[in-house]
Amino acid sequence: MTIFEKILEIYQEYYICLHCLGRMFSLLGTNTTNYDRGKSLLLALTMEYHRKYLSKNEEHEEAINILKLLGEKAKFIPARSVLEREGFNSFTINSSENCYLCNDIFNNISSYAKIAIQNLHNLEFNNILVGTALNSQIVNREDNFKAHFNLLDAESFKNHFNREVGKEVSNILSKPPEFANPDITVIFTLNFTSSEVNLLIRSIFIKGRYNKFIRGIPQTHWDCRLCRGKGCESCNFSGKQYKTSVEELISPDFLKEAKAESSRFHGAGREDIDVKMLGTGRPFILELRNPQIRTLNLEKLQKKVNKRNKNKVKITNLGYSNKAQVKELKFNAENTKKVYRALVFSSEGITKEKFEVKLNELKSIFGTQKIKQRTPNRVSHRRADKIREKKVFQIMGKFIKPKVFEFVVEAQGGTYIKEIINGDDGRTTPSFTEIFGFPIECKNLDVLEIS
Ligand SMILES: [Zn+2]
Ligand SMILES: [Zn+2]
Repeated sequence: MTIFEKILEIYQEYYICLHCLGRMFSLLGTNTTNYDRGKSLLLALTMEYHRKYLSKNEEHEEAINILKLLGEKAKFIPARSVLEREGFNSFTINSSENCYLCNDIFNNISSYAKIAIQNLHNLEFNNILVGTALNSQIVNREDNFKAHFNLLDAESFKNHFNREVGKEVSNILSKPPEFANPDITVIFTLNFTSSEVNLLIRSIFIKGRYNKFIRGIPQTHWDCRLCRGKGCESCNFSGKQYKTSVEELISPDFLKEAKAESSRFHGAGREDIDVKMLGTGRPFILELRNPQIRTLNLEKLQKKVNKRNKNKVKITNLGYSNKAQVKELKFNAENTKKVYRALVFSSEGITKEKFEVKLNELKSIFGTQKIKQRTPNRVSHRRADKIREKKVFQIMGKFIKPKVFEFVVEAQGGTYIKEIINGDDGRTTPSFTEIFGFPIECKNLDVLEIS
């Protein structure tokens, strides 16, 4: 069966628009639109049957019927013009009949583009993608149609709609389409008679390093343990376990500037609540969700955040980042080296000489073996109970008083430093307590460097 026979078969039963007609043969012929494909096919048919009409032989009657089919059922104006020129003047056209496959949605692409553009008002973006969620009625009808007429070269409703609306939006706004990683995806939820629009706005990611100069605040917001964030007497109806956090000190200025809906703070590991983060700081990435603005003045923001949080937290080295780097940040946290300074209290007073002997012992033991560290009791509620092997790279020590020492410890990321010192009741071994032979406690801990 030729394409032309197939088209006539279709119009014997259904009216479909030129976009959908071309779409049914979309894989045939390139460098053209579905509309032009559809129009060319009907024009070629009109020409062929006009020729047959003019031949005045036995094909004459058939030609009139086909031209009428094209002019009336297919609503193809050039076919009607031919008939009019040959003296036919009355036509029955069902003007309320819409395209069986798209309900004339494809004749109104501009109105969908307009809706999309209205929704993009006030948003900053560099590129865009249009997507569709189709009602099952549309999909099923089309599937049955293709099966019924054995149409194997069709393009889907979705592809046609997304491309055509996308093309128009891109042209009007002068923003290129982007398929892999669009700043904004406009999603139409369509059925035959109505549509709904939703926007998917890609998060923006800002990376940097932070310092924490005070003890007592966590890295990120914690929900109150009792009410799980709902608000209760114990948390003074704040829903929070701690009054503030590094995240809460840093993110508000970014949220405001980007006009974002919410944010998420990703750190390269985290220090304990009572631990300072000094030196060049800890890498972090701040994710801003649903931002209306994507280009931020990072230098200005850094100054603003640092001024507001003077002597509490500080951010440096800001730059733009992405989702892949968040994954990397989490993954690499264990592979970093961290330098800690610990002020420790010993349960027994010892002389400086004895301290030096023990310090040498520490250095040689930690220098030759990895430590085995079972998940500490204090974090076992949020981390799996298992034994981790960690490497301590370097230990330096200073005798301050018979019961007070200071250590600088360089260790692998993810090592629990307080437990290396106190031994955690034997759960971490070897430990300072084990080597000194009496309990040693970490009083203050600071992170000096992360590399
Ligand atoms: Zn159509
Ligand atoms: Zn509470």
